[in-house]
Amino acid sequence: MNKQNLTMFKKVLMQKKTELLNKTGNSQRMVAALNTNVGDEIDTASQNSEKEIYFEIASNDKITLSAIDDSLVKIEKSTYGCCENCNSVIPIKRLDAIPWTRYCIRCQEEAEGLRR
Ligand SMILES: [Zn+2]
Repeated sequence: MNKQNLTMFKKVLMQKKTELLNKTGNSQRMVAALNTNVGDEIDTASQNSEKEIYFEIASNDKITLSAIDDSLVKIEKSTYGCCENCNSVIPIKRLDAIPWTRYCIRCQEEAEGLRR
């Protein structure tokens, strides 16, 4: 991968990171807002499921955030764009779609196949 591409992916990753951090902050504020309504017994059940949804969003974002951080480290180490499993080069097209991906398509599919 050339330096120009690396710089571009770094920019995209930083942007996405900022976006996610803002979003995570927002959903945590929402959870805090929901918590302040505790004591009102009428709608406790729906409040609980809303809270679960917000926590779920936050935890998915955390997974993406750590993948973004790892990708940024890999850019610094010049190992960005290599599959973490088989070490083959991940096509730019795939990185364009998911810049923080850790695996090539084949390894990703194998991992997903194992989960099923
Ligand atoms: Zn691979």
